Amino acid sequence: MALLSPRFFSSKRLVNASNGIPLRQGCASGRAIHLVQMALIDLGFPMPRSTGNPNYSPDGVFGNEMKEKLIAFQKANPPLAQTGEIDRATMLALDSKFRGYKHRVRLHFRSISLTNVPFQESLTWAEIVYGQYGIKMEFASGMSLMLSEAEEARLSQVDGECFWVISDGDYNELHSLGTPVPSTDLLVYYVKNIEDTVDGNLRGCGGHAPNRPACTVGANGTKWTTAHECGHVLLTKDFNPLHAPSAKNLMFKDTTAIGNMIPVLTHAQVAKMRSHPCCAAI
Ligand SMILES: [Zn+2]
Repeated sequence: MALLSPRFFSSKRLVNASNGIPLRQGCASGRAIHLVQMALIDLGFPMPRSTGNPNYSPDGVFGNEMKEKLIAFQKANPPLAQTGEIDRATMLALDSKFRGYKHRVRLHFRSISLTNVPFQESLTWAEIVYGQYGIKMEFASGMSLMLSEAEEARLSQVDGECFWVISDGDYNELHSLGTPVPSTDLLVYYVKNIEDTVDGNLRGCGGHAPNRPACTVGANGTKWTTAHECGHVLLTKDFNPLHAPSAKNLMFKDTTAIGNMIPVLTHAQVAKMRSHPCCAAI
């Protein structure tokens, strides 16, 4: 049986669990366990021993705490058997509790350049990563910006450093283009080139003007760059660590290292993102 919740359906192991291949204590750790841990925490079963690591939190380890909380969940949801495993009935019960989204981020795409990763694909990957935490990345509008030749010549390469707070320069000019959107929505600008004076490898920038949440993605961006830069906007400059130390996390500095594995967010990152004005409760 397929899973319907955006929190779970991208995990083959959870789909397998819903088909009768249970996950139990001692089984391999990873994203499947992490997603169930996050779900249980959101349902009111806190896991103090499994959370708090800036690398990967909850930790994705099926240990004693996970087993205890699963039994508590099963006890609270009769007639589930208190197996302490992610068995078929338990997986389906969890899935049924998270059919919809709890939060929404409205995205407006503004493009002055085609990108290596088609924009629709970038949106899909963002939807999948954030959907794991009940956050809907919602397409609100898309617009190809019609620039004058002079503007295009100037802005196809965005110069200037990627500062957190943008008040002038190319980024500011770029983010002023196109139909304005409410300050509770997030703008994503696609450009040909981003000037990088640091390591020549910059693919995006989460900096923006106060009250104009926006990020910029270069044509060299990976499939995760759009989701990553939106993450910076939602985390704000105050979140520490700015970049996660693990390439399993969406906020790892170099998104090429994430590869094809679907990345996760930490419990603390998700909490911070959910509190951003662009992330509305629904
Ligand atoms: Zn970054």
